[in-house]
Amino acid sequence: MRTVITGGAGFIGSHLCDYLIKKEHEVVCIDNLLTGKTENIVHLMGNCQFHFIKHNVSDYIYVDGHVDNVLHFASPASPFDYLEFPIQTLKVGSLGTLNSLGLAKSKKAKFLLASTSEVYGDPQVHPQREDYWGHVNPVGPRGVYDEAKRFAEAMTMAYHRYHNVNTRIVRIFNTYGPRMRVKDGRALPNFMCQALKSEDITVFGDGSQTRSFCYVSDLVDGIYKLLLSDEHVPVNIGNPEEVTILQLAREMITLTGSKSKIIFKPLPVDDPRIRQPDISRARKILNWEPRILRKEGLSKTLKYFKDTLDNNEK
Ligand code: UDP
Repeated sequence: MRTVITGGAGFIGSHLCDYLIKKEHEVVCIDNLLTGKTENIVHLMGNCQFHFIKHNVSDYIYVDGHVDNVLHFASPASPFDYLEFPIQTLKVGSLGTLNSLGLAKSKKAKFLLASTSEVYGDPQVHPQREDYWGHVNPVGPRGVYDEAKRFAEAMTMAYHRYHNVNTRIVRIFNTYGPRMRVKDGRALPNFMCQALKSEDITVFGDGSQTRSFCYVSDLVDGIYKLLLSDEHVPVNIGNPEEVTILQLAREMITLTGSKSKIIFKPLPVDDPRIRQPDISRARKILNWEPRILRKEGLSKTLKYFKDTLDNNEK
């Protein structure tokens, strides 16, 4: 198997590279390193199963030789990033998806799109099932990510229906684990690093909004199962265990034994009030469900951030 992963130097992309190399795939990782990092893939450099191409997939993608799978994971994914890079986010979700689909079509390869729970926007249905069409503000600041991913899903289905490309769409819910960046901007890494540095923990709004956090190894497992399945319509992959953001902040203080205080900051525009995946379809079709409890996942992630912060200080 020869698999192209766009965004392969990112948080989830790099875990996928590792997973597929263990499954004996040859992996071609393409990343322009806008939000991805060479540190995430440096351990794979020199491995003859791994090739890295530094390239922006919003421009035409050229890959030599045969390709069996194209996994399109390139995109800024933290609200903090897509507010800083709105045009790049729109381009990689639209032109990047078009180019990745074009590559899959020309190589007669399978294609898998990394979509997101953000396609549901600020949802009015709870938990979110795949047949819910969502509640997205197209012109709000988050619209650049949400609408790009909604367009990407439409484009993927069009290539499937019109060009017969063998496609998959995974809707990824909040995911965490090692290789998230210290300055990622998302709640979980922010809270963990703030707690470790005894800084104030910044809860946006009153912290009553909810999210459901999936450990990265569970996610990658689900994505692989989806790739092997025959499912063309979107499938939610995430952990349904839902928490309020305030509860997450408190858990972080307990976990680290930190002296940090919780402070409250304004809620960002269009911040979803609630989020929880309905994973009935993944359970049924893929025989998949998450196995790592938050307590376990958080302690693995804690070790990673401790080491990273220690190294940054050296
Ligand atoms: N959030 C927070 N403090 C932070 C970062 C985020 O309270 O320092 C909140 C954010 O407003 C949202 C939730 O935590 O309600 C999850 O945000 P995140 O950026 O992790 O991802 P999202 O699920 O919104 O894409």
